[in-house]
Amino acid sequence: MFIEKSKYIGFCSGVKIAVEKALSTLNEEKKLYSYGEIIHNKDVVNSLEKKGLIVINDILDYSDNNTKLLIRSHGVGKKEHLELVEKGINIIDATCVKVRKIHKIVEEYSNKGFNIIIVGDKKHPEVLGIIGWCNNKESDVIIIESQEDIEELKIDPVEKYCLVSQTTFNTNVFSKIVNTITKNNYTNIVINNTICDATKKRQDACVELALRSDVMLIVGGKNSSNTKKLYELSKKVCPNTFYIENYKEIPYKYIDKNTKVGVSAGASTPDWIIEEVIQMSENLNQTNDMNENQENQNGTMHELFESYGGVSKIRTGDIVKGTVISVNPEAISVNINYKSDGIITRDEYSFAQIPDLTELVKEGESIEAQVVKLSDQDGNVILTRKPLEEKKVWEDLEKLKKENAIIDISINEASQFGIYGKVNGVKGYIPRNQISIQREVDPSEYVGQSLKAKILDTKNKKGRRQLILSSRLVEKAEKEIKDNETWENIKEGEIYEGIVKNLQDYGAFVEIDGIDGLLHINEIAWTRIKHPSEVLKVGDKISVKVKSVDKENKKLSLSYKATIKSPWALFLDKHNKGDVVTGKISRILEFGAFVVIDDIECLLHIKDIDWARTEKVTDVLSEGQEVTAKILNISRKDRKVSLGMKQLIEHPFDKYTKDLKKDDIIPVEITRILLDGVHVLVNGNIDCFIPIARVSTEKLRTPAKVVKVGETKDAKILYIDTKGKNINLTFVLESKDENEYSNSDIPVSYKSEDSDFTIGESIGDALGDLLK
Ligand code: SF4
Repeated sequence: MFIEKSKYIGFCSGVKIAVEKALSTLNEEKKLYSYGEIIHNKDVVNSLEKKGLIVINDILDYSDNNTKLLIRSHGVGKKEHLELVEKGINIIDATCVKVRKIHKIVEEYSNKGFNIIIVGDKKHPEVLGIIGWCNNKESDVIIIESQEDIEELKIDPVEKYCLVSQTTFNTNVFSKIVNTITKNNYTNIVINNTICDATKKRQDACVELALRSDVMLIVGGKNSSNTKKLYELSKKVCPNTFYIENYKEIPYKYIDKNTKVGVSAGASTPDWIIEEVIQMSENLNQTNDMNENQENQNGTMHELFESYGGVSKIRTGDIVKGTVISVNPEAISVNINYKSDGIITRDEYSFAQIPDLTELVKEGESIEAQVVKLSDQDGNVILTRKPLEEKKVWEDLEKLKKENAIIDISINEASQFGIYGKVNGVKGYIPRNQISIQREVDPSEYVGQSLKAKILDTKNKKGRRQLILSSRLVEKAEKEIKDNETWENIKEGEIYEGIVKNLQDYGAFVEIDGIDGLLHINEIAWTRIKHPSEVLKVGDKISVKVKSVDKENKKLSLSYKATIKSPWALFLDKHNKGDVVTGKISRILEFGAFVVIDDIECLLHIKDIDWARTEKVTDVLSEGQEVTAKILNISRKDRKVSLGMKQLIEHPFDKYTKDLKKDDIIPVEITRILLDGVHVLVNGNIDCFIPIARVSTEKLRTPAKVVKVGETKDAKILYIDTKGKNINLTFVLESKDENEYSNSDIPVSYKSEDSDFTIGESIGDALGDLLK
C-alpha cells in the first residue's frame, strides 16, 4: 500500500485564523459565542465547544453581554453586522479577507446600480452574507449554480450586471459559466473571479492526486462545501473516492497491500484529523508487511486492523504507559511502543511549578501519560501527565474526605463569599460561614495565612468537581479538646486570668482558657452597683476567683471582688484610731451623721459634734457637707468606725483654766439653787457646783437665803480638776485655815450631818426661794 497526501491540504488561512482567534479567546475567557459554526467540521466544533464555545444561529440567542461573539470566516451580511454593533456586542470579526473583498465588490457595484449575480450555493452562509452586502433588494440578487442557470437567465442588454463567485465554488463549473457569458456576448456582465486560491489549489492538487490513486480519501466535515467539492472533483477521475470525516470511516475493504491511497482534505479539516487518517493507514501498511501470512488468512485490511493490538490503537485521549528514554530540564522523551516517541514537556508534567524535570524523572523509569496529539511538527506524540495527576489528586482528596483528615491550605484569595487556596494544586474554597467558629469574620484578613481544614465536599451542587473545605470544623474540634482540658483542671477557690466577653444586666461573662463563666453583678464590686458596666468593659483582662464549678452541666460561677481588697480592709490598712480624716456626710440621723471615709461609712455621734451641747444634728451639719474629724474608735469586730469633730478643738474648760490657779477670784453666775448647794456658770460655759457649806460662812438651811439665781458673784478657786473638767469654788473668800481644803480632801457635796436643819425645813426654804 502506498499512501500519498495531497500537495495542498487542510486548514486554509481564513479558517486557521478564525480557529486561532476562538482558541486564544477561550483560553483567556473560557466562554465565547460563535455566530454559526466556525468551520464545517464536527470534530473541531466539538473540541471548541468543550473549551466553552457556544454556537448560536440567531442573534436572539445571544444572552450574555459580557461574552464576546465571533463572526466566522464566512462573514455576515451588512444589516446583521450593524445590528450586532448597535446592540453593543463585543465582536471578534474573523471574516476571511477574501470573503470581505467580495462584500466590497457587491456593495460598490450595487451602489452603482448593477444587478448582482452570485455564483454559488444559495443556502451557503458565505453566499447569504454576500447577499447582505448588496444594496439591491435581496429578490433582485441572482444566484446561479451551473452553466444551465446562466443560459436560462434572461440578461437584459440595457441593464448592467456584476458577477462574483462563492470562494469555494467549483472552478470547472465557474469556467463553464464564464465561457457561456463570453459565448453569448454578455458584455454588460462584469465578471469577478472570486474563487479562493486555497480552494483552487486544493481542488487542482486533489484532482492531480486522484488521477494516480486507486483509492482517494477526502477528509472533512460532511457539511463542508469545499470538502464536498473536492470529493466531487476526485470522484470524477477516481471512482474509489471516499468522503470520510475521520479515520474511523476509512474504507478498509477497498484497500489492500498494493493499493495506492491518496489523501486530500477540505479547508476546514484540521491537521490532526488528517494525520490520524494517514497514520492509521500507515499502521495498517506496517501491519500488512509484518503479518502477510495473517493477512492472507483473514482476507481484508479491515480485519487486520481489528486484530492488530498495542500501539496501533493509540488515539488522542488514550492513557499510555512507557519508559523514559531521556530527560532534560524542559521535556521527557518516552518510548510508548509506538512508531514515534512520546514527549512530555515541563508544563505538561504537573500542575505544580517544576523548575527542572531532571530532578524528578530518571531515564529507565516507567511513566504513564495521556495522549494529547498523535503527531507534532517533528512527528512526536504529545503526552501530558496533568489529567492523570489531577485524577490522582482528586482520588487522594476523596480518601482524605472519607478519613475526615485535616489538611493544610494556604489562603491566597478572598471574596465576600469566602476564602480560596490551593491543596495539592487543586483550588479549594472555604465558604464564609465555614472559616471560623467566630460569628463575624473578614475573609480578606485570612489572605496569606495557612489554615488547617477538613474536606466538606469534592463536588459542588451542580455535581462539578469543587473542593469545599471547612477550617471552622477543625477550630471547633480543637476548642472542644481545649475546653475539656480546662473543665478538667479548673478548681474551685483558685484565681484565674479571664477576659470579659459579654455584659448583661445581671452580670458579666468571663472567658477562662476558652470556657465562659458567669460573674454575677453581686460578685463584681464590694460596693453596690446598678450595672456591670460601672466596673467592667468587654475585653477587660481581669482576675477572677472560681466560686463554684459544675462540670456536668458546664457551669462556672466566678467572683471578681474576691480577688480585690474590700474597702474595709483598705480602710484598716490606711487608718488608725486617732487619725484625722476628711469625708462627706452621706446621711443624717437623729443620733448623728454618717461620714464616708474611703468607702466606709463612719458614725459622727451627736455628742461628738461640739463641746457645747448640740440639740439637733441638722442645726450644724447637712448631707454632702465635707467634714474633718478624728477617728475615735475602730471596731474590727463590728466593722464600725466612730468619729468626733469636737475632739479636734481645745476643750473650753482647758482653754479657760489654762491661766488660772488656786485662790484666784473669778466671777460666776448662779444658775440653779439646790438644797445642798448651787450650780454656777463659769465663763458662760463651765458648770460648777458649790456645796452649801461653801456658800456662806454661816450655817444655812438653804443657799437661797444668801444667793439668787441669775446673780453674779465672786468665787474663789479651791482646786482645778483638769481631768474631771471641774473647778472647786467657794463663795467664802476669806479662809480661816489655808489647809482646810486640801487637794485630797475636797468636799464636793453637802452632807446632812453638816447642818442643824432638817431636810424638810431646807426643802421648804428652797422651794420658797425658787418660787420668789
Ligand atoms: S477558503 Fe479561502 S476564502 Fe474561504 S476562508 Fe479559506 S482562505 Fe478564506
